[in-house]
Amino acid sequence: MAVYTPTPAPENMENRISKKQIAEIVNDAYEHCKRIKEGNNAGYIPFLAKENSELFGISLCFVDGEMINIGDHEHIFGMESISKVATALLVLKEYGCETVLKMIGADATGMPYNSIMAILLEKDHPSTPLVNAGAIAAVSMVRPTGNKGQKWKSICDNVNALCGSRTEFIEELYHSEALCNFNNRSIAWLLKSYNRIYDDPELSLDLYTKQCSLGVTCQQLSTFAATIANGGVNPTSNTRIFESHLSPKITSMMASVGLYEHSGDWLFSSGIPAKTGVGGGIMGVLPGLFGIAAFAPPLDEAGNSVKAQAAIKFIMKKVGFNIFDNCSIRIDE
Ligand code: GLU
Repeated sequence: MAVYTPTPAPENMENRISKKQIAEIVNDAYEHCKRIKEGNNAGYIPFLAKENSELFGISLCFVDGEMINIGDHEHIFGMESISKVATALLVLKEYGCETVLKMIGADATGMPYNSIMAILLEKDHPSTPLVNAGAIAAVSMVRPTGNKGQKWKSICDNVNALCGSRTEFIEELYHSEALCNFNNRSIAWLLKSYNRIYDDPELSLDLYTKQCSLGVTCQQLSTFAATIANGGVNPTSNTRIFESHLSPKITSMMASVGLYEHSGDWLFSSGIPAKTGVGGGIMGVLPGLFGIAAFAPPLDEAGNSVKAQAAIKFIMKKVGFNIFDNCSIRIDE
């Protein structure tokens, strides 16, 4: 049996690294992490429970659009909570930062993604579009109010533009989730009682469930992440999707709550803001450099893919960059 020898860490004292070195690191991460057996598929959504647990892919997209792909990077899987990032950007575009801060907020709850307790505790205090309550509220804000067809088109157009290609609605996932989303239904109606939902609760819940059921590949997600890293210009389509000032805003939201109650541990150990979904995907943003996505269905107890976390951590450690490192802006005398 071949013995796996990892590539040595780059001599990164000057914060320099080549694309070739990064490609070797991504390859090593794949080899190193593919044997990880921990975690379980999301059990509460039947479609996700029966997904092949062996699937594993990684994709990295540089801000010039060049990509590194390995494994099942073309496999289509449920976007789930990663869709929250796209719709947060959409309402930031439609309403502006101050209004979104007022109507939803940008605070980490420190609780699970579907926490009702968080809503009860924060009834007069905003949360964030990146947990279920804030995401359902964000969907409710998408214009035009009351027009389900137009709202859905706007949500899909935005996701497709961020991903650089058409995403696929997974009908079976949607039905599977719609049949058992009682907790999310409670959230939608609880928000209504606190005046924190801005369209019909059932309409908003349904569109939220639909956006979670959009199917994406690692390549599409790394393009989405690279668009954020690239200040709003999709590097594969060369199209501006949002204004550059929104990049640090959405990245800060990902940093504070992207891995739910494990977000602090994640940031501490990986150094990259990221967002996960219970479909097994994780999308990370390294501002100005690249977007990265990894996918493997088995999750930890907080709902974050075990293998995808391990792969991205491995890559970040070897690449040797960290968003909290010395920033490159020079202050003149
Ligand atoms: N659709 C899932 C839910 O609402 C999304 C959760 C997640 O991906 O974190 O439960």
